[in-house]
Amino acid sequence: MKNKGLLLVVSGPSGAGKGTVCKALMEKYPEVCMSVSATTRKPRPGEVDGVNYYFLEEEKFRSMIENHEFIEWACFCQNYYGTPRKRVEDLLAEGKDVILEIEVQGAIQVKSKFPEAVFIFVMPPSLEELRNRLSGRGTESAEVVEERLQTALWECTNIEKYNYILINDDVNDATDRFAAIIEAEKMRIERNGQWIQDIRKA
Ligand code: ADP
Ligand code: 5GP
Repeated sequence: MKNKGLLLVVSGPSGAGKGTVCKALMEKYPEVCMSVSATTRKPRPGEVDGVNYYFLEEEKFRSMIENHEFIEWACFCQNYYGTPRKRVEDLLAEGKDVILEIEVQGAIQVKSKFPEAVFIFVMPPSLEELRNRLSGRGTESAEVVEERLQTALWECTNIEKYNYILINDDVNDATDRFAAIIEAEKMRIERNGQWIQDIRKA
């Protein structure tokens, strides 16, 4: 029987580089998949519906909540975000590793439903660098950048709920450390129960 895939939850302050590191990881390891979230946020220039997010009206998002179509959902800086359940569960059952790049409130919900998931908190090397990255990305107004920085401070108070801290100093180095976490997690005894039983039977 095939092992179930790893569920990897990646959080961290807005602008820390979560998206950048996850994208770099998938370029090196195409077998790792990312869940596509739903959101009521408006698309940024270049973002494509169904690729970066499913961009939904609030009414549709609410009906998905009522129909239990999300693994988790949360309101972040006045927009709703949620992880559609079906694709993630199907990929895990096929033995694929799946990344959820989600904020802290959602990660806490995932932890109660999937205690075996791996929780990784991405941090910039400093708060000053966080501000530079967030404003340098140029996708949010100065007001939204400030709101996200305030939220970032609150998010950092939840680091202890995670298993790993990943400092994103250099993208390549951080990506290699992320890959090392995945490799080590796959070697955990409790994730290799079937293999161990087969060896004992032989
Ligand atoms: P997040 O997904 O955490 O909100 P992004 O991946 O969008 O963050 O990164 C925020 C900005 O910082 C982007 O402009 C990105 O190119 C830049 N960035 C990401 N990682 C690094 C890094 N290691 N060094 C310098 N700039 C980075
Ligand atoms: P952004 O607007 O910058 O794309 O995302 C804002 C925040 O929402 C980020 O911290 C991102 O990780 C988080 N996010 C994205 N998708 C989801 C999701 O499905 N659920 C939750 N809880 N957070 C999400």
